[in-house]
Amino acid sequence: MIPEYPSRSVEARNRGGRWREGAQGRSGLLCAIHSVVKKEPFTEHYTLIPGKELGRGKFAVVKKCVEKSTGREYAAKFMRKRRKGQDCRAEIIHEIAVLELAASCHRVVNLHAVYEMPSEMVLVLEFAAGGEIFNRCVAERDEAFIEEDVKRLMRQILEGVAFLHKNNVVHLDLKPQNILLTSDNPLGDIKIVDFGLSRMVSSNQEIREIMGTPEYVAPEVLSYEPISTATDMWSIGVLAYVMLTGMSPFLGADKQETFLNISQINVSYTEEELEQLDKAAIHFIKSLLIKEPEDRATAEECLKHQWLQTQETNSAKEKGKITASSIPEPVGTAVSTQHSDEDVKEESRLTEELIVMAAYTLGQCRQSSDKESLTPEQKAISKRFKFEEPFPGLQEVPGDFIY
Ligand code: ADP
Ligand code: MG
Repeated sequence: MIPEYPSRSVEARNRGGRWREGAQGRSGLLCAIHSVVKKEPFTEHYTLIPGKELGRGKFAVVKKCVEKSTGREYAAKFMRKRRKGQDCRAEIIHEIAVLELAASCHRVVNLHAVYEMPSEMVLVLEFAAGGEIFNRCVAERDEAFIEEDVKRLMRQILEGVAFLHKNNVVHLDLKPQNILLTSDNPLGDIKIVDFGLSRMVSSNQEIREIMGTPEYVAPEVLSYEPISTATDMWSIGVLAYVMLTGMSPFLGADKQETFLNISQINVSYTEEELEQLDKAAIHFIKSLLIKEPEDRATAEECLKHQWLQTQETNSAKEKGKITASSIPEPVGTAVSTQHSDEDVKEESRLTEELIVMAAYTLGQCRQSSDKESLTPEQKAISKRFKFEEPFPGLQEVPGDFIY
């Protein structure tokens, strides 16, 4: 629930007119927090571990630190208040407010303290010692997740996301870099981090924004349709695919190709890595990678999905695997794996047109440096990972999206 705000009037005055009545601003940002914002130097209470940078984004650096009074380890997220010449304190306050709102959910990283300096704010967070699940997603086969791991972790991710959605929070940047582990070996539990792009959604207010990370972004974001909790569910589908196969289902050689693959739901379910999986896993993914947001499964429905119910033992695996025919097809899945030659021709013509249109509307996008080394097939749907920055807002994207 939305927290109480004991320091509301003081905060309001301090923010020089940025205070908006009510707990939620017009753009889906929460604007009230109840954490005490400490103004003394962060280093008075914490020792930064030298050389231990845990992660870095466009506007944030995360470092490991130790609380002097307790000896406990934390992750300190240093966030610049001014970004591209704009005061972004309100966005940081929102991130804090969402962490406060999710304080009772142990699938979301815990916020321990907040510090404010003239040019940055520091969020002292519970330390997730196992790092990003991303590392396991791109690891070699022997280090990669096995299906049973993915099922357990996916259940936990869904518990966190169901909690957020119940509280009208959409994360909007669910990807393997923002899902951390409490420990790596043995494989621990998940912690959802990074609420920098998250928004509050409510029935009387539409949010249309272009944000997210290209590979994980849902079709409605690209077509500038309203964002909803279903937008996160698309990303969960991508996440499941990546965790199970180590391949990114929509990644193209550049952003345009990625967006095109997404808007056409151009995803392959015939990869070797998928063949070996429980058929229910594919069904789970197919129930999420659906163009129409209202046809996608919700987090609660996913938690009840057959794939996540089965406790497979080796003998069960041998005997009674769930067959595709025993599971109803998801509604509105715009996926066909069998194409006639005519279809292929028509598709490639359409693809070219759309690429031209996407290139025109998006302007210059960063090209993959190893694009030349890709075969024509790989260019269509490249499975290579790239480290793309999320695009945080419409103003960041040159040109308008018109498709
Ligand atoms: P950004 O908005 O810059 O993406 P994040 O909150 O995602 O910031 O943090 C960047 C990276 O820092 C994460 O992807 C992760 O690798 C690391 N990180 C963030 N929070 C923690 C944490 N609590 N414990 C350990 N590592 C963290
Ligand atoms: Mg992040």
